[in-house]
Amino acid sequence: MNSPLKIVLLSGGVGGAKMAEGFAFSRSAAQFSVIGNVADDQAFHGLWVSPDIDTLTYTLADEIDKTKGWGLRDESNQVLDQLKRLGSDSWMYLGDKDFATHIYRTEQRQRGVRPSVIAANIAHAYGVKTPIILPTDDCIQNKVMIESGWIDFQDYFVKLACQPDILDFKIAGIEAATATPESLNAIAEADLIVIAPSNPIVSIKPILSVPGIADVLQHSSAFKLAVSPLINGETVKGPADSMMTAAGYRSDVEGVADFYSGVIDGLIIDQQDRDRLPRLSNKVEYVLATDTLMFNRQQKMSLAETIVHFYQASRGRNNRSARSFIESANALATRTAV
Ligand code: GDP
Repeated sequence: MNSPLKIVLLSGGVGGAKMAEGFAFSRSAAQFSVIGNVADDQAFHGLWVSPDIDTLTYTLADEIDKTKGWGLRDESNQVLDQLKRLGSDSWMYLGDKDFATHIYRTEQRQRGVRPSVIAANIAHAYGVKTPIILPTDDCIQNKVMIESGWIDFQDYFVKLACQPDILDFKIAGIEAATATPESLNAIAEADLIVIAPSNPIVSIKPILSVPGIADVLQHSSAFKLAVSPLINGETVKGPADSMMTAAGYRSDVEGVADFYSGVIDGLIIDQQDRDRLPRLSNKVEYVLATDTLMFNRQQKMSLAETIVHFYQASRGRNNRSARSFIESANALATRTAV
């Protein structure tokens, strides 16, 4: 019997969690794990908030607020309202049930429990079977430079609603960070590594930049592919397009291919970008155009299954069946999209 396919997803929050849901509920679930971004983490009201890890947990627990794509559904705001009454900042929305996660996380951190173990405990309490792995247990944080200077990521993202022009990015703490053994093992043992359609600059780059991770990725014999978060030069949600430009990349599928150059063997783009296929063939070995918009579980599972087929077809590298699978899928994307 063939050993089960081991799939690892590198993921941010909202876009990544959609892809995670697709894999977790598809037939590949038993061998699937996610490495989630921790560089959007920030303290609020003395509590450590880890938005992308929580979005992954709540999504895989099927308790996510589906309208927003983050936070728990059926939330109330009593704690935040009372904090506001006391004069605290309330621009970062944290629901009452969600507060419990941050209180638990902060208390456990203060007791010296490893953040990876805390994340696993929260996932377990929510009944999540998929391992949600942290790339590092150290504190790494995205910072954004605007005209007034360096600011925290959530200040840019939530408080300032992504309005100011970005002059620069940095990930504070990255040089001193150490990769977790869980993340290094997951990557080393994977057959297929998928970079989710997440923000390349603030969700995926922090994972790839943790010392040790790029190295193990490069030495891994896994098939590595990315799903573009940009469709028609725009994001589905969030500031990834303007961030790509601010970071010096094109804000389209070609920019995504350039950003992941040297990391990926394959790229999945939306069928709406199929006219870019010829240009992308110079940048990435395997490119597949398909439906990548995920609004419901069926679409998420269907994209996960297409990725597994893409992997199976490409595994032989340069074999004829890989080429013919990709060519016929791309031809189909062209026909169905007209
Ligand atoms: P964040 O950490 O919450 O900002 O979430 P991510 O970094 O994981 O994802 C943000 C990216 O997801 C954005 O650039 C979106 O364009 C992308 N995204 C969201 N939904 C979809 C989708 O259905 N399909 C694709 N291809 N990208 C999506």
